[in-house]
Amino acid sequence: MSNPTKRPAWLDRAFNEARAEREANDELKRTDPEAYKAKMEAMLPMNTCCFCRDTFRGYGNNPSPVLKDGTACDACNRSIVIIARFQAMRR
Ligand SMILES: [Zn+2]
Repeated sequence: MSNPTKRPAWLDRAFNEARAEREANDELKRTDPEAYKAKMEAMLPMNTCCFCRDTFRGYGNNPSPVLKDGTACDACNRSIVIIARFQAMRR
């Protein structure tokens, strides 16, 4: 591959690896959508909800203003955090 912009070699390698991974994922998505979905879900982090202590896969939700730290599951986000935010807006 030509390198007219004189990017460092490590950046070219990282770019090429990212492109190859994207192409492989595009191919998997096209040929086996279920396997693609499973692969993407497996890449998500495991978390423990700061309210109900359930474990879940995903990035979760910011529990502020109820708690300063932690990650809330979607159910607790809907039933606790969102309601608290609306209540804070009414004050
Ligand atoms: Zn929860």
